[in-house]
Amino acid sequence: MTALILDGTSLAQSTEEALSLRVERLKSKTDQRTPILATILVGNDPSSATYVRMKGNACRRVGMESLQVTLPEQTTTEELVAEIEKLNQNPDIHGILLQHPVPAQIDERVCFDTIDIEKDVDGVTSLGFGRMSLGEKAYGSATPAGIMRLLEHHEIPLSGKHAVVVGRSPILGKPMAMMLLNANATVTICHSKTVDLISLIQQADIIVGAVGMPEFIKADWIKLGAVVVDAGYHPGKIGDIDLEAAKGRSSAYTPVPGGVGPMTINTLIYQTVDAAERKHGLSKS
Ligand code: NAP
Repeated sequence: MTALILDGTSLAQSTEEALSLRVERLKSKTDQRTPILATILVGNDPSSATYVRMKGNACRRVGMESLQVTLPEQTTTEELVAEIEKLNQNPDIHGILLQHPVPAQIDERVCFDTIDIEKDVDGVTSLGFGRMSLGEKAYGSATPAGIMRLLEHHEIPLSGKHAVVVGRSPILGKPMAMMLLNANATVTICHSKTVDLISLIQQADIIVGAVGMPEFIKADWIKLGAVVVDAGYHPGKIGDIDLEAAKGRSSAYTPVPGGVGPMTINTLIYQTVDAAERKHGLSKS
């Protein structure tokens, strides 16, 4: 079976071209106001630092700016909340990204929920999750929203399909499940306490691996012709699914790297441009 490659790199690139034009238009209509994404990095995790740098680079590629806030490892919840509140009040900032995960002493949920809903371009607030789940206007969590954009771009049918999401984290598995449900898929959410995971995955027309363990999902668990989405990324350029073996069984799959990862960053800047347009009255939605 020749599988369709759900190429996130190429969709992200073409979207960046369109976003550059929207940033130019915004500048021309607002006395050179530029969309600005504030990124907050707490602590010394090297992977998080890399992700924040990549997000800043993506902003610059489309003519946006990023304001980088870096806080020490021992930052408290109260200090981080105060920093987010400053960014909420700053009229020049259109979007706020708090890089996950934060150090263990910080209450991440409290900090996420401090982000102003209008600036929640990474879709991490409880309010945003609730609105998105109810099908109301809200920025979706960037990774699952990026996956949805990739599936939509490739016209992958979702309505009536059985989607199995392996993972239920607040930023990935749960919002993914709600987005697929809103697209009329029949959704099963699996997690570490799921009994007989393999037989559930075997029923999936669409499988989303969001489990955080390298090549955890095996090729022979996957139904012939299923659509395979791998959100994982681990050293050695592998994901949460044994893709090398699984892609031959699939009708379409996201490569690792080059599938979900570029769409996550792209969705973040896409949603920031949207937030800036809305703030300056240039958005139709
Ligand atoms: P997470 O918070 O660690 O969540 C992992 C989920 O997997 C949990 O819900 C957990 O269940 C479930 N799980 C663990 N062991 C399991 C098992 N044996 N069987 C079934 N489910 C099991 O991870 P995350 O933040 O959602 O990330 C998931 C993956 O996506 C990681 O590989 C991460 O690197 C990747 N990711 C990629 C991007 C991107 O931009 N490409 C962004 C975010 C995350 P419980 O809830 O029961 O513990």
